Amino acid sequence: MAETQGVAFKMRHRFFTLSRWFLVTGITVSASVTAIEFSDPEALLPPVQQWSGKSELLIAAVDDPWITPAERSGLRGTPEYDDTMDWLHQLVAAAPELEMVSLGRSLQGRDFWMVIASADRAFTAETLSVTGKPLLLAHSGIHAGEIDGKDAGLMLLRDMTVAGKRKELLANANFLFIPILNVDGHERRSSYGRVNQRGPAEMGWRTNARNQNLNRDFTKLDTAGVRALIKVFRQWKPDLYLDLHVTDGADYQYDITFGGNGRSGWSPAIGNWIEDVYRPAISAALSESGHEPGGLVFATNGMDMQDGFLTWSGDPRFSNGYGDAAHLPTILVENHSLKPYKRRVLGTYVLLAETLALLAKEEDSLRQATTTDQQRRPLSIPLGFKRDENQEPEKVMFKGISSERYQGKVSGAEVVRWTGNPVNEAIPKVYISEPEKVVDIPQAYIIPAAWSDVVERIALHGIRVEQLSEPLITRAEVYRLPDAGIAEPSGWTPNPFEGHIRIDPGEPVKQVIETTFPAGSYRINTDQPLGELLVLMLEPQAPDSFLQWGFFLEIFTRTEYAEAYVMEPLAQKMLENDADLRQRFEEKLASDDDFAASQRQRLLWFYEQTPFFDKQYLLYPVARIPRPE
Ligand SMILES: [Zn+2]
Repeated sequence: MAETQGVAFKMRHRFFTLSRWFLVTGITVSASVTAIEFSDPEALLPPVQQWSGKSELLIAAVDDPWITPAERSGLRGTPEYDDTMDWLHQLVAAAPELEMVSLGRSLQGRDFWMVIASADRAFTAETLSVTGKPLLLAHSGIHAGEIDGKDAGLMLLRDMTVAGKRKELLANANFLFIPILNVDGHERRSSYGRVNQRGPAEMGWRTNARNQNLNRDFTKLDTAGVRALIKVFRQWKPDLYLDLHVTDGADYQYDITFGGNGRSGWSPAIGNWIEDVYRPAISAALSESGHEPGGLVFATNGMDMQDGFLTWSGDPRFSNGYGDAAHLPTILVENHSLKPYKRRVLGTYVLLAETLALLAKEEDSLRQATTTDQQRRPLSIPLGFKRDENQEPEKVMFKGISSERYQGKVSGAEVVRWTGNPVNEAIPKVYISEPEKVVDIPQAYIIPAAWSDVVERIALHGIRVEQLSEPLITRAEVYRLPDAGIAEPSGWTPNPFEGHIRIDPGEPVKQVIETTFPAGSYRINTDQPLGELLVLMLEPQAPDSFLQWGFFLEIFTRTEYAEAYVMEPLAQKMLENDADLRQRFEEKLASDDDFAASQRQRLLWFYEQTPFFDKQYLLYPVARIPRPE
């Protein structure tokens, strides 16, 4: 509602019923006919559990000169972008351990600010790396309505510096903190940003100023925000990266849930480190502070816990999937949306502080895991992961909230009602860890010079690319895509997603060719630390391949055609001279009524079998150079 000015703004405290429509300055808005008072969005949510915890002692006293804007509101509100940055600039001016740099600007011209916290006052990537201390990178607000991490980070930066309460955390670790990544979305503020979330009083919007979701952008890199972040990965080389969110979905007792991409993803050593080293330490600290830590929870049936819950292995378009594919240790933090803002912010503070403390102790084990995964050179790679249907899911103890179902009179379907009562029970935990669509990894990919826009994006990730200085004569594998189509057509066909037309590659047909790649073609070897990420961006069947994101739409258009006055007599001659062709034609006529009824299709069938037909039609232009036998 915040985007629709005028009428919607004046009636912001009313509940809108979609019955009448009219236009205000070109924007369609709904008119209110039922004036339900709507000043307390949280009243719509399931019952809240009473909570108090030791972490409440972290809140600054009201007369503390360094009280944060959120603390001043009793951790019920969150400051606007300008107020946040003003407060941070003042802190940085007062704290010798802090510096702030802009990583670039958003579509609406706001800086992406990053705070550098270093006891050694090492404020460049080079000097920071010389300190040898482990480096934590965290950002909040990639989905700007989920902003807990920003207000937790402000408190922690204060306590590690001017307040002198947690100075030890910076003694053996460095910290990079981006308080708001989706800065424009953050300023699209209202009380109605996220209907399933309990505070803050006003919150930003999920997507950016062009309605792009930054947490779907990690491979294709359309947005300035994620491009800036990827540059931080490359330049500053953090040892651990935290992406701070808030959930949607089911109710349960856990307040701070977090995890990586699992033990059996693209970075198994890192996956094991997260489960065996990170999780126990952080969970213990959270429990000690009065919080209820848990793993990431996704209800199997998308509704309640009756069928248990799933683990999740993100594709590389997501931060956690990207980190897994790029061998960058990445933790996705999802605070539970139904817990009050104060509880979520304090839990995030504890998680951030304990992560810094843990890094100081476990620097070596983490770096060893990362090196192990970076140096792996598997011969094949799964393009995704799925549920293992043959495996009976294990039952695990789950701290749930009891629920019941009822028949919705409006929706005409079963709806869940959360009662607010805690219930601890064993429920199935389903692992999404079975490799799916395994492909062998080639020695290199060749991308023609004509597709340099794709190559530029690949290079932004830090993948080494070379350009052929002379022609390369070689054997290569190419894919034809005879049954590719528009993915997930909908009421809108095609269905735009993130500003792209998604392509379903169908079943690609691999062909081996002897060919010459001209000078100027791009050769990208897989034998590099980001080689697996490269495969996941170039194999047609990978969900985040550039092909599936619609970067190769041109290959699906046929651009030459044959006139009937040429094809009719030519087809006649072809039939007369080729008994086998005649038999195939007659079989096709007999078996395919549409074909038999269409002059266009009949002549096209012959045209396709002449040398005039476009050999590049439906040919994926990216070639694979196989490994030597
Ligand atoms: Zn989110």
